[in-house]
Amino acid sequence: MGTNINLSFDEMWEKIIACDRKYDGLFFTAVKTTKIFCRPSCRSRKPKKINVEFYYDIKEAEKAGFRACKRCQPETDHSPHTELVRNVVEFLVTHYSERLELQDIANHVGLSPYYLERLFKQETSETPRTYLEKIRVDKAAHLLTTTERTNLEICYEAGFQSTSNFYKIFRRLKNCSPSEYRILIGKA
Ligand SMILES: [Zn+2]
Repeated sequence: MGTNINLSFDEMWEKIIACDRKYDGLFFTAVKTTKIFCRPSCRSRKPKKINVEFYYDIKEAEKAGFRACKRCQPETDHSPHTELVRNVVEFLVTHYSERLELQDIANHVGLSPYYLERLFKQETSETPRTYLEKIRVDKAAHLLTTTERTNLEICYEAGFQSTSNFYKIFRRLKNCSPSEYRILIGKA
């Protein structure tokens, strides 16, 4: 479970620096110096990169001697649907580069598309579709700033079906074009 979520160490590091809630539950940040583990979205002071280890499973982190952070409480489920959301997000993060329909996601979690969409939206304020778009844009943003690949290559690698769709969604979420983003963040 959760050992193949398609996120590199550097991507997970980016998520915790951004306190990104989208990836909560998928992995945990363990800090070797404090022996505490956190959700990616924890607002506590950020550790040094060299002191961080990532775990996909709370039990593994605990077995390695880490204790749950009192601030973000990674061991506490805040809703009875936490596991469902985690399951869906894990599926999206693993399969973002493929053509995905709501039905595919529904099949994976064993719910009707209608019921899945309603529950997921109630929990995250997003539909599985818009959540997937955000994951794809995160992936594209990471590739834009860490690789020399062209916009076209990145478009398809991130799972967008057309460049016009890629440019439109990227701009909506990042307020700039992919090329502008590469220059802006690449030089930061
Ligand atoms: Zn924490």
